[in-house]
Amino acid sequence: MRNVLITGASRGIGSECAKAFASLGDNVIINYCNSQAAAEKLCSELKAQGLSASCIKADVSDPKMVKAMFCEIEKDFGHLDVLVNNAGIAQTKLFTDITDEDWQRMIQTNLSSVFYCCRAALSPMIRRHSGRIINISSMWGQVGGSCEVHYSAAKAGVIGLTKALAKEEGLSGITVNCVAPGVIRTDMTSNLSEEDFCALAEETPTGTTGTPKDVANAVVFLAAPESGFITGQVISVSGGFVV
Ligand code: NAP
Repeated sequence: MRNVLITGASRGIGSECAKAFASLGDNVIINYCNSQAAAEKLCSELKAQGLSASCIKADVSDPKMVKAMFCEIEKDFGHLDVLVNNAGIAQTKLFTDITDEDWQRMIQTNLSSVFYCCRAALSPMIRRHSGRIINISSMWGQVGGSCEVHYSAAKAGVIGLTKALAKEEGLSGITVNCVAPGVIRTDMTSNLSEEDFCALAEETPTGTTGTPKDVANAVVFLAAPESGFITGQVISVSGGFVV
């Protein structure tokens, strides 16, 4: 049974990843920050199906909390096979309105968190000569999003981190890849109206927007033992919005 940590798994894409891994028979560790009730509900639902799941609270933008979370995981489960860096926040603002606090919060939550979690996960993975890291970026990290400059910069940073780390860890038996979702219906996009979704779907070659399951499928694929020859890649799950 693989031990799989998914950050920000209380809701949305992370929650769907937790369900997907658990249904494959993996032991899922559901990280949350604020949504304790949602994380515990998901955990109970999975356990009620006879699947293996537990919850762990940590603000992944805080290096001390990340360190404590990994210590607890080591104590409870010994090692981690798969790390999915999914936790993230979004904010829509004109570039000239972005404050120092907005910038720091965005970079800490969406980029530094990936650094903290990869750093904590890597040494044991190197010792075991085995591991899978999947980082959730965004299509805006690939092509840039207007009124989301800080978000786009953080997500582009995640892509750079992924590619460089993949090169460094290839000989250690660890793969590091990115999934870059397009428009996915979750709380993060709940500010969009039905008209907005229709307009975005029309701009998309598949004529649809995506679901958390679409993203989870790509994450599970990259984590599979058969995907060991894929590293340093960015898989776009955007219905062809980005090609
Ligand atoms: P969501 O529904 O808003 O969920 C965000 C998740 O991140 C929640 O579980 C939240 O946990 C967690 N989180 C936020 N800050 C955290 C922190 N400091 N520490 C720990 N967990 C934290 O968002 P989503 O749409 O599922 O997004 C998941 C990922 O996909 C994000 O990285 C996002 O940027 C990326 N993405 C989403 C879309 C989209 O269209 N939805 C597109 C491209 C990329 P709590 O509620 O417990 O605080």
